[in-house]
Amino acid sequence: MTDMHIHTHFSSDSDEICENYLLAARANGDKAIGFSDHCDGDLFDGDEHALLDVDGYFAELDRAAASFDDIRVLKGVEFGYSQSAERRYTSMLREHKFDYAIMSVHSVPGRGDCYYPEYFDGLDKHQAYELYLNAVLSSVTSSVDFQILGHLGYVARYAPYTDKRLYYGEFAPLIDRILSAVINRGAAIELNTRASGSDFGIVTPYEILERYIDLGGRLFTFGSDSHKTEHYRNGAETVKGTLYRLGIKSTVRFERGIAVEESL
Ligand SMILES: [Zn+2]
Ligand SMILES: [Zn+2]
Repeated sequence: MTDMHIHTHFSSDSDEICENYLLAARANGDKAIGFSDHCDGDLFDGDEHALLDVDGYFAELDRAAASFDDIRVLKGVEFGYSQSAERRYTSMLREHKFDYAIMSVHSVPGRGDCYYPEYFDGLDKHQAYELYLNAVLSSVTSSVDFQILGHLGYVARYAPYTDKRLYYGEFAPLIDRILSAVINRGAAIELNTRASGSDFGIVTPYEILERYIDLGGRLFTFGSDSHKTEHYRNGAETVKGTLYRLGIKSTVRFERGIAVEESL
């Protein structure tokens, strides 16, 4: 099971170098590893730091990979969705040979990033979560050719409510539209284990994972969302246990956009 969601110093919120992850991967006996640094076109206001330096990133990954020929180094990216960034993302994917793109919603038009307390100002829980889910629906029905829907349920991670949990039943039609769009485009749902705000160690609630399967979804990826090496593969056992419980026996990694099955 490959960890497909990892950040390095090419993300503004990480200082880690990719060699350290590769050392951890080798120590763990991993055959592959997926790097997914941020490209935040949603936050772009002229400051290039919000965007990914793809040439520098690929050069560093290639250089590191040359010393670790026992490990397949996958070149991914995590896009922060906004409608205004769609064209930028599409041309990035056309111009560079990424293995995969994770589509994530961090910020919501007019509200900012759900990471910040201000996002929730003046909104009740239902309103805050519904705005987030509508942004996710826009992202999964967008023209950007992504492979993985990142951390569905992210809005709960930093929410200020006593009961942060996102309940499927409260937004069933909206969540069904999101899951159906993911399935119809052949993308995967990420099991993201950077999950403060979740009561079971994965950002996406269990009942939403069950619903994804009911609707025909079978593609899952594992992502620790590590920003430093100590967190690499965090929660892998929780993910395996959850998949067993769901009756799923494999995850996938993506190589040049193609899903490759990995048995649990
Ligand atoms: Zn993210
Ligand atoms: Zn991330």
